[in-house]
Amino acid sequence: MEEMYFDSTATTQVDNEVTEAMMPYLTEYYGNPSGKYYLSAKKAKEAVEEARSNVSKLIGCKPESLIFTAGATESTNMIIKGYLDYSKYYGDGRNHIVTTTAEHKATLNVCRFLNGEIYSNDDPSTSLFGGNKRVDRGYKASFADVDEFGCIEPKTIENLITSETALVSTIFINNETGSINDVNSIAELCKKRNVAYHVDATQAIGKIDVNVNEIGCDYLSCSAHKIYGPKGIGAAYLKSDNYGIQPITAFIHGGEQEGGFRAGTLAVHNIVGFGKAAEIALRDILANKSIISDLDEYLVTGLLKIGNIRLTNPSPSRLPGIVSIIVDADDFNNERFIKKIANEVAISTGSACSAGEPSHVLKAMGLADKTNKVLRISLSKHSTKQEIDALIKVFTKCI
Ligand code: PMP
Repeated sequence: MEEMYFDSTATTQVDNEVTEAMMPYLTEYYGNPSGKYYLSAKKAKEAVEEARSNVSKLIGCKPESLIFTAGATESTNMIIKGYLDYSKYYGDGRNHIVTTTAEHKATLNVCRFLNGEIYSNDDPSTSLFGGNKRVDRGYKASFADVDEFGCIEPKTIENLITSETALVSTIFINNETGSINDVNSIAELCKKRNVAYHVDATQAIGKIDVNVNEIGCDYLSCSAHKIYGPKGIGAAYLKSDNYGIQPITAFIHGGEQEGGFRAGTLAVHNIVGFGKAAEIALRDILANKSIISDLDEYLVTGLLKIGNIRLTNPSPSRLPGIVSIIVDADDFNNERFIKKIANEVAISTGSACSAGEPSHVLKAMGLADKTNKVLRISLSKHSTKQEIDALIKVFTKCI
């Protein structure tokens, strides 16, 4: 496929090493890891535990604190809903969450749901029973504003914390703008205020050092398909003490898999793929950081030379590899543009999970009038300067 792929924030190409590691668990060792005694079940179980160990090394936690899920969206749902439900009904009754306006939809819509604003991810005005019905689910959510660069000012989080607040949830690296958040400071203030802290580290793992103990967070979500692993598999880090993982309300009720937090037969091949991708990510993190930083500088220099183009987040708090730009030409429309060049180039206007509607992240940054001018170009460890040259040529011709 001769496609110039610049959308690795949406997903990445699965590494060959990863697919090779996965194959035996689709062919030979197809046993259910919850099965007992026989070889294919034992092999599957061992492989799951090796993968758990590899993923836990990537985020610096104990393997026992890691639950496999179907991806970061599921991990975030599990953690936020599970923590708040447990806190309200089985804990000290606190039922409030603080998050921000620039989260991934996985967090934003979970919080809006708990806040009684929506029942689905679509426009709530499509309710059968009339528009915008607000209900009381027994939880409350507050949304902190972000600054013009899409970054969270810890103080704005702290200002929203009340005696009812049980949990704070923020994104580590914004998937639309690459904005890097000061999660250490947020963790510190959460500790000070005796509030638990969940970090959505989906765009951070494998790209920068992520260590739950150094951050000081209690919960973390991540996903395999952003680090050259398979889709449909992620992990939730859940805080534990001497007795194991501290209880939260289970997300999927059923069997006893994953400590009872997430029932359902484990997707062994996907888990093995995640484990391998995590092992490679940790092994190659320094090399990949350097490749991507170098390419990022090359790309940004080339883009800014075209004229009419500026970075959405020109601050130093941007992860190299996520390049969000505003094309300030009157007749430019991002959706029409990416469609026009789609035969050659894979780029996006922003989050793949919000495709089709104006970006809430850009609105949160005060760029509501620019949502149809923004493009996101994202780099991977496979990107090359030749490809960037070709991209710049396409841009120069078409913009
Ligand atoms: N959070 C962030 C920051 C993301 O970039 C994504 C993926 N776009 C998700 C959550 C959701 O991850 P998944 O696709 O694994 O559900």
